[in-house]
Amino acid sequence: MKQLWFAKKNTLEWREVPEPKLDGPGQAIVRPLAIARCDLDLPIIQGHTLFRPAFPIGHEMTAEIVELSEDIKHLQIGDACVVNFQIVCGSCPACSSHHSPACTTVPFGANYGLGREAAEFGGGLAELVKVPYAEAMLQRVPAGIDPLALASLSDNMTDAYRTVAPYLKAQPGANLLIVGGVAESIACYAILEAQALGAGQITYFDTDKARADFAAQLGATVEYAEKFPQRLGGNFDVTIDCSGSVDGFRMALRSARPYGKAITVSIFFDNSVPIPFIEMYTKGIDLTISRTHAREQTPEVLQLIADKKFDPARVTSRVVDFKDAAEAWVQPGRKLIVRGP
Ligand SMILES: [Zn+2]
Ligand SMILES: [Zn+2]
Repeated sequence: MKQLWFAKKNTLEWREVPEPKLDGPGQAIVRPLAIARCDLDLPIIQGHTLFRPAFPIGHEMTAEIVELSEDIKHLQIGDACVVNFQIVCGSCPACSSHHSPACTTVPFGANYGLGREAAEFGGGLAELVKVPYAEAMLQRVPAGIDPLALASLSDNMTDAYRTVAPYLKAQPGANLLIVGGVAESIACYAILEAQALGAGQITYFDTDKARADFAAQLGATVEYAEKFPQRLGGNFDVTIDCSGSVDGFRMALRSARPYGKAITVSIFFDNSVPIPFIEMYTKGIDLTISRTHAREQTPEVLQLIADKKFDPARVTSRVVDFKDAAEAWVQPGRKLIVRGP
């Protein structure tokens, strides 16, 4: 079968690989229905991360089940599902205590289409994908929802959700600052999910005019400047850094109110990123840095979509056919979705 690989910097290539096979209990073989490009994929391909080639690419997807191990009770062949991008077993101590990204049954940090382990587990830009823990990793798409619009639910929509949902549950009507940038689609999903969850004012800041204009279209109160200031006035209850920029991250940290929350989805592959320590200490700013808990949060985001409170299709910028994936995947854009094979 065909599988798209990140072969070397700025280069993707289709490779012919063996079809995956069921070889034990609890498994599924799925055919991707739609594959979305994560905000991290372009930086990976451009060589800006520590993910080194070569491995299969694509980790956000919806898929149709084509084969199932006999012991599986809660899924059926033909079901359309959201596929968890993190490989998780669902039953180890980490999975049982709501920290599935630390699943101890698989190598730490194993994902589809992302990093060394993807050579074993595969990627979404393929004709077939094996799901080793089907009941833990597949979430059925409710009737009436287009699987194409859900492709990014595997990762970026849940990553956005973790930046807003816990804080809006604790403080309904909280005022948010979302700092846009490299994590472009995550920032947009965060705006829409925050609206769905009853945020107060949602302020969006960016140093890119086109991204700022789009955030305004989504309903955020937009501030734009060519450079990041030290801080934004606004006494924000929660600040969410999606900038991928140290200056953006530091501005977000400084813009939270005393005893406010700061969350970042930026990934700095440098352990020496400076934080405004004494300002955060005196103000008591609570900073959260984490990978997303995709398995734990997917059902909640899916419910928002099913209830028509959140329409992820508003963020999609381009849809292409499977045969055009290699060319399209390297073109910049907010949210690319590839139709399945
Ligand atoms: Zn991702
Ligand atoms: Zn586990």
